Amino acid sequence: ENEELYCIGCGAMIQSADPQEVGYVPAAAIQKNDEGEDLYCKRCFRLRHYNEIADVALTDDDFLKILTQIGETDSLIVNVVDLFDFSGSIIPGLQRFVGKNPILIVGNKEDLLPKSLKRSKLRDWIRQNANMQGLRPVDVALVSAKKNHMIASLLSMIDKYRANRDVYVVGVTNVGKSTLINQIIKQKTGIAELITTSRFPGTTLDKIEIPFDDEHFLIDTPGVIHQHQMTHFLSGKELNIAVPQKEIKPKVYQLGNEQTLFLGALARFDYLKGERKGVVVYVDNSLMIHRTKTANADSFYAKHAGELLQPPFSENIEKLPRLVRFEFKATQKSDLVFSGLGWITVNAGAVVAGWAPEGVAVTLRRAMI
Ligand code: GDP
Repeated sequence: ENEELYCIGCGAMIQSADPQEVGYVPAAAIQKNDEGEDLYCKRCFRLRHYNEIADVALTDDDFLKILTQIGETDSLIVNVVDLFDFSGSIIPGLQRFVGKNPILIVGNKEDLLPKSLKRSKLRDWIRQNANMQGLRPVDVALVSAKKNHMIASLLSMIDKYRANRDVYVVGVTNVGKSTLINQIIKQKTGIAELITTSRFPGTTLDKIEIPFDDEHFLIDTPGVIHQHQMTHFLSGKELNIAVPQKEIKPKVYQLGNEQTLFLGALARFDYLKGERKGVVVYVDNSLMIHRTKTANADSFYAKHAGELLQPPFSENIEKLPRLVRFEFKATQKSDLVFSGLGWITVNAGAVVAGWAPEGVAVTLRRAMI
């Protein structure tokens, strides 16, 4: 097969190697297509038949091209972020790329955060953290795309800020952008009105447009993969244990100096020094947490990773990169964040170390809660 095929929906080159990449068509479907009929890639197929958006990964290069083109428009930028993985959701340089266009931040997956957390406080926290990353949003909306919560109010906020302009929705993969777009489609438009696609010049992917009443559009853009996520190492079953699906129930541990918590076999937290005040763990409710003395932690991990410490399960434990250590001193009440897995809140003055598989970001931030 050296004939190159292209999706007639989006123009991407057809491939059957990677379902997550652009232009995917199952090999069997390509073979069946011996008449040389027009082929749609999986993404365009789902769009046509189910009005369903599936996000696909883009190279950084294509992503930057798209951002640059958005920067040349006069529009409202809606930046979807994952409240459970805020720093992993940040698009570096977004503010610079979009130029003068206003940015509305949408914090998605708010259903995962404790109901007791005041939403006004959460919005302030997002704004502050966005500022620290160089983002100056005009406003912050909180939604749960999955629970269809606050979507109508998001749409009226968008209408207010777009002021007769187009709207571009941007976000890295896995923040729930497709889920959100699908909810918006359900609320806004019938199947008939959907969907015009037209090319972002110079990239392999098309944008998806949802019409407003005034000849302007809400335009979905492909997401770029962010590399530093824990979840890349896990199978579907393991993900069920490691990625929360419901409101997180915080767990408090009274730790003395030189005590360690393991979060499955995926991460390790050493409480090196600090008051005996208790740390609060925010991870999936079913993720197993084990406590040991820091002095014994290395041998405990070597002995129990994949068994007592799960996930990953024993058959996958070999594939998990070694845990790498990052040490921090908290100057204020802070969260030690394991990107994609959750965080542990510690008090001011604590000296801690976070360990995560090589390549996964471990960071310290001002406490969210
Ligand atoms: P995309 O890559 O940004 O398009 O993300 P998806 O829409 O494919 O969603 C990524 C994952 O996040 C999926 O497992 C979704 O079920 C989940 N997800 C999306 N929205 C929400 C939400 O509001 N709450 C929760 N808890 N999970 C969500």
